[in-house]
Amino acid sequence: MPDAGRLLVCATPIGNLGDVTSRVLDALREATVIVAEDTRVTRKLLARYDIHTPLERYDEATAAARTPELVDRIASGARIALVSDAGTPGISDPGERLVDACLSAGLPVDVLPGASAIVTALVASGLPTRAFYFGGFLPRKAGELRRTLRSLSALDATLIYYESPRRTSATMAAVAEVFPLRRAAMARELTKLHEEVLRGSTVELSSALEDRELKGEVVLLIGPPSPAEAPVTDENAVREAVAQLIVAGLTRKDAVKRVAAELGVPRNDVYRIALEPNDAS
Ligand code: SAM
Repeated sequence: MPDAGRLLVCATPIGNLGDVTSRVLDALREATVIVAEDTRVTRKLLARYDIHTPLERYDEATAAARTPELVDRIASGARIALVSDAGTPGISDPGERLVDACLSAGLPVDVLPGASAIVTALVASGLPTRAFYFGGFLPRKAGELRRTLRSLSALDATLIYYESPRRTSATMAAVAEVFPLRRAAMARELTKLHEEVLRGSTVELSSALEDRELKGEVVLLIGPPSPAEAPVTDENAVREAVAQLIVAGLTRKDAVKRVAAELGVPRNDVYRIALEPNDAS
């Protein structure tokens, strides 16, 4: 059996062609073949660095059919370099499928790190970096978009999304509606000539983007919950606490008073919650 080859996952620039490591350039030069999401984009990089390795397409449309064939070629000794159209392959692109298939077949996978739109946008935003959540692309339908945002309202982290320039303004309007008290940022064309980073409250950004027709590539970022946001009350926990105190012999009035003090929830809210039927009932 021939020596197994390897999959080389190569990070490429997100705009500025200078943002590529010498290790990635060596890997691209020495690979048996380069598989690329967008061969036109990758050709520009290869021309800039005088690399003449054969180039093949591996994108969303071809990934299902091509993955087993590429795995077989690696098993037969090929060194296949995988690149996406920008940044680190495997994030919101078909690269993750090839990585998984190689690992499942017991083949070696080397990740050669480099540019990533997520990390570049996060640091440029000035928003807290201690914890962040990357959500890929947001749903396009208005209702689903709002539901997705609301489902993350208690997460104490900066939220990061890829967005298309055409939908940025509508998405920012929804973000301002769901999170009116948060800071946000819109990072566009990072590392490129027309790089732009807008920073401000979600409401400010929504009005700044309202009449603009954006071009290029966009990342949207939403800051963590601000201290001014009302804490989310776990209604089931409130109901349960009141019920337990009543079983223990307290009057409803005293139980409500005690739970309000212990959980820091206004007394009227505890009354309302305690009188409402449970979610499960
Ligand atoms: N794998 C890449 C990475 O490392 O982040 C990203 C690929 S993802 C399918 C493409 C999305 O990344 C674009 O829709 C855009 O949201 C974002 N993106 C890529 N390049 C960018 C840039 N120069 N400025 C802002 N966003 C960029």
